[in-house]
Amino acid sequence: MAPRSSFQSYTVYSLPIFDAIMTSFERTLEFAQQLDQVDPLRSFRNEFLFPQHHGKDMLYFTGNSLGLQPKSTKDSILQELNDWAKFGVEGHFLAERPWFSYHEFFSKGSAHLVGAKESEVVVMNQLTVNLHLLLISFYRPQGKRIKILFEAKPFPSDHYAFESQARLHGLDPADVLVEMAPRAGEVNLRTEDIVAKINELGDELAVVCFGAVNYFTGQFFDIETITKAGHSVGANVGFDLAHAAGNVPLTLHDHNVDFACWCTYKYLNSGPGSVSGAFVHEKHHSNKELIRLAGWWGHNKSTRFQMQPGFDPIESAEAWQLSNAPVLSMAAHKAALDLHEKATMKALREKSLKLTAYLEYTIHEVQKHVSKKLEILTPSDPEQRGCQLSTVVNGATKQIVKDLADRGIVVDWREPNVIRMAPVPMYNSYEDIYHFGIALQELLSK
Ligand SMILES: *Cc1c(COP(=O)(O)O)cnc(C)c1O
Repeated sequence: MAPRSSFQSYTVYSLPIFDAIMTSFERTLEFAQQLDQVDPLRSFRNEFLFPQHHGKDMLYFTGNSLGLQPKSTKDSILQELNDWAKFGVEGHFLAERPWFSYHEFFSKGSAHLVGAKESEVVVMNQLTVNLHLLLISFYRPQGKRIKILFEAKPFPSDHYAFESQARLHGLDPADVLVEMAPRAGEVNLRTEDIVAKINELGDELAVVCFGAVNYFTGQFFDIETITKAGHSVGANVGFDLAHAAGNVPLTLHDHNVDFACWCTYKYLNSGPGSVSGAFVHEKHHSNKELIRLAGWWGHNKSTRFQMQPGFDPIESAEAWQLSNAPVLSMAAHKAALDLHEKATMKALREKSLKLTAYLEYTIHEVQKHVSKKLEILTPSDPEQRGCQLSTVVNGATKQIVKDLADRGIVVDWREPNVIRMAPVPMYNSYEDIYHFGIALQELLSK
């Protein structure tokens, strides 16, 4: 498969080179340690706090559920607590990092993260809340154009959001929700099938809203092609980037995506339930007629404190803000996003491609020594995945995750028999993967 044009600036390995990398891997501790020694991001591991197991750092592979805590987070939050103690309400303007405009600290980092202009991104609320706020604006069913298309088995919160949005408009979710499943016998969706489905729905389609990286399979969808197809039939196109932001390169502006949102506690290490990001393409910013739920923080900054009725939306994604900034969780996000900016998405992706390839290689090697069949559900094409691999372990039970935990290794289990794990380029190492392989082989050989 040819590399997608959208990834030109990030496509580090073409597939033939990628295959060559795979075949040059070795399954020895020395080899893994050598790769770690030449890893340009290796020092970032020291910036994080790892859960402990018998006095040692655990091998943590669940950064796709909750990223680790940066060591700098505590001081970042303390800074705000101290300024609150010192200034009280005046902290809105006098704090070292004024709370009044706190969300603006994230404009640049968030824009880099999702490939947007600074005016197109805003950090506010939490993920499902933002999904609803965006759907209020971009899901406006009319006549027969009422349907929402998304990938089968999305994260349940997204499914509930779509159902309730249908009801909000007095529609039956059964008439609105179109869940796209893979072909019989296949695990992942084919882009050509998604495009065909969009064309088939045509003028009945109101919104396409995929999880850019599916939380279960780890498939990274072709945002550019899906967006084009959606627009060609007159639908709005958005993405839930929960498993994409900080994990895969994104270019939302150039791909003309209408809206998107993401959480910051998975690959962005900003702490449990931390603030969320939202993207609205600039082509929608000057449309003051766009329906939205309004609050004072979305109002024109120059007249906000005149406290008058009559909502005058800011001409940027900030117009979707309702409330003043939740500074304490934003302080955690600040520490984490600063680290991300320092590492850069480009370098993270470069390492991620190789790190996940090493995990894939290791799983294939383990298979040679065990009888239980291992099947990787995640696409083998590196451009169709981020760092996560989801692996069916035939004949295993959840006990295997407990046994791994007893060996200091954290992975995630999805019934009936899937291990979901993500070697995160920010803090995981090749050596982590080597040790995981040894443990997995031992457990499956019992
Ligand atoms: C993690 C995740 C969520 C979680 O939603 P919250 O509002 O942050 O609790 C929602 N959707 C997707 C696709 C996710 O991966």
